Amino acid sequence: MFGWGVLKGMLVTLWNFLLTYLWPKKGIFTVQYPEKKLPLAQRYRNFPFLVYDGTPHMIRCVACKICESECPPKCIYIIPEKDAEGRVQKKPAVFDIDYAICMNCGLCEEVCPFDSIFMDHEYEISKYNRAEDLMVRKEALLKPWEYFAKIRPHDFERIEAKRAAKSAKAKPVAPAEKPSQKPDAGPTSPQQGSVPKNG
Ligand code: SF4
Ligand code: SF4
Repeated sequence: MFGWGVLKGMLVTLWNFLLTYLWPKKGIFTVQYPEKKLPLAQRYRNFPFLVYDGTPHMIRCVACKICESECPPKCIYIIPEKDAEGRVQKKPAVFDIDYAICMNCGLCEEVCPFDSIFMDHEYEISKYNRAEDLMVRKEALLKPWEYFAKIRPHDFERIEAKRAAKSAKAKPVAPAEKPSQKPDAGPTSPQQGSVPKNG
């Protein structure tokens, strides 16, 4: 029908107008930022941060460099720690992320096998010096595991359950829990008499 598109557009405009004035929460409105902020969805993601357990020196990252090699724009820089004899330690001495290059894809979080790096909700990171101030060092990237629980409680529960199951699996079986190997415990294989005799 001629003019149907125009009419449809006007109806949408009228609908949004009425919603805004009659039902402000559903209509189109402006938040008085920065005084007011909209709540963020749990899966909202911005830049990555590193997790520690307890105190910052208990950093989870083992400097495996998987995230560094998988990061599409290559904005993660890791140098593992070395001991006095020059042996590589499972800890990063340097862990920098260039926020000026990071494209917030979340791949580093996805590929990390140690639940050490996660996407943050922090978005107020404006700086005067793009080159230096947005190169974020390990110390500034570190946040406690409790912080993650606060911003993403659903993912926190899921990851905690996964880690608990993994550590239970890795726990060595205590001698008392091992199956009995005493001779009177009965046959355990056909050679030991489990095959029924004919007649
Ligand atoms: S979010 Fe994407 S671009 Fe940013 S550091 Fe992680 S992998 Fe790299
Ligand atoms: S953050 Fe994860 S993937 Fe990246 S180096 Fe550390 S342990 Fe490896």
